[in-house]
Amino acid sequence: MVVWVLSPPYKKDFIKEGRCEQETSLFDTTYPPLSMAQIAAILRRKFDIKLYDCIAQKINEKRIIQLFKNQNPKIVFINTTTPTFENDINLTKQLSEISKTTKFYVYGVHAKYFSNEKYGKNIILLSKEPEEIAYELIGKNFSFEDLPTPAWDLVEIKNYKLPIKNKSFLLIQTSRGCPYSCIFCTAPFYYGKKYRKKRVTSIIEEIKAIKKLGIDEIVFYSEIFTFDKDYVIEICNEIIKQNLKINWMCNSRIDSVDENLLKLMKKSGCYMISYGIENFNQNILNKSKKGINANKIRHTIGITNKSGILSFGHFILGLPGDSNKNLIKNIKISSKIGLDFAFYYIATPFPGSALFEFFKNKKNKFSNIHYNKNQVNKNLNLEKYQNKAYKHFYFNLNMIKTIVRIVSIMGIKYFPTMIISGIKSTLKILKNEN
Ligand code: SF4
Repeated sequence: MVVWVLSPPYKKDFIKEGRCEQETSLFDTTYPPLSMAQIAAILRRKFDIKLYDCIAQKINEKRIIQLFKNQNPKIVFINTTTPTFENDINLTKQLSEISKTTKFYVYGVHAKYFSNEKYGKNIILLSKEPEEIAYELIGKNFSFEDLPTPAWDLVEIKNYKLPIKNKSFLLIQTSRGCPYSCIFCTAPFYYGKKYRKKRVTSIIEEIKAIKKLGIDEIVFYSEIFTFDKDYVIEICNEIIKQNLKINWMCNSRIDSVDENLLKLMKKSGCYMISYGIENFNQNILNKSKKGINANKIRHTIGITNKSGILSFGHFILGLPGDSNKNLIKNIKISSKIGLDFAFYYIATPFPGSALFEFFKNKKNKFSNIHYNKNQVNKNLNLEKYQNKAYKHFYFNLNMIKTIVRIVSIMGIKYFPTMIISGIKSTLKILKNEN
């Protein structure tokens, strides 16, 4: 029996992975479809699997409908997000009209939040994790710890390239769940507040499987990679001991790294860490339930720099309590604390986050819920500030020093691709100017 794992076509490049539901922003990078490859790895034990990531593979609606008619899958997993939901469910309905006996499992944060809604007899919006359903279909029990290595061989890996390096990369999900309650984030809703991690031996197996495919660039994908320091130490030591020679990056929190850990991470191949900083104003951080001390931000970026790892700061404009004065202040500070890269998102009320309260009961489209559109704090022109922030961060003299640092950490061979990436990003910033 043929089973599909499908991400429908969409008008823009889009990242669809758990709490990451966003257009590719400054850098044109979409993630390799981790959850899709993970579902496929489970289902292939019993079924004939086809995986279509239509956006990356540039498959349009007409073509996917034709493939559906030709292959007649009896089960289809559909990967969806809030901004793409109307688009994705529209295709699902069309396919369900073509084959009345096919079952459609729609998954993602949005599907979970609205799992009571009905779109057709055979269309099910999943309240469970999709892997749980996949295991049910093969007659086995689900546990995150025992997930098999994702079926990357079913993915056209060449479609996913890192910015700057312009090299293929893959993701490894080390853990799920987050005990924090940041009001803008859907992670605790989607994967729960309980932290679950894969065994270190499984992570090492996944690294080896990825290396066999000729890939040595890895993103450790998790809510907070460094949440459990001992676990990270174990992973790093194993990478070093087994001489796995990989280049990797991860995300973290300002309060979950220290100098010794950073040194070890660097030694095992880590070259960049993404930090969710959000804001420098303690009041706003408190209102957002971020649970970090604003005074610690500069220190953490400093020790990251010192350890020879690039730092990437993520900021949110327009959180409750924000003001014109604070926005300007934040934009200025963000370019002065030694960060190598920065992204500026507009506070967005995704279903599953506490901020969704700002959107509920409004006659509005889900496609308007995205990081470049102000829905939360209408008194502020956040789109203007977003553009200002990018210009302030990337178009200033400090950038020369940063470029030298990036080249010294990544390697001089990436200088040409870095310049191309820089030009593309510059054009994007200028195009979005308000
Ligand atoms: S720490 Fe906050 S932003 Fe990060 S995953 Fe947890 S809830 Fe989300």
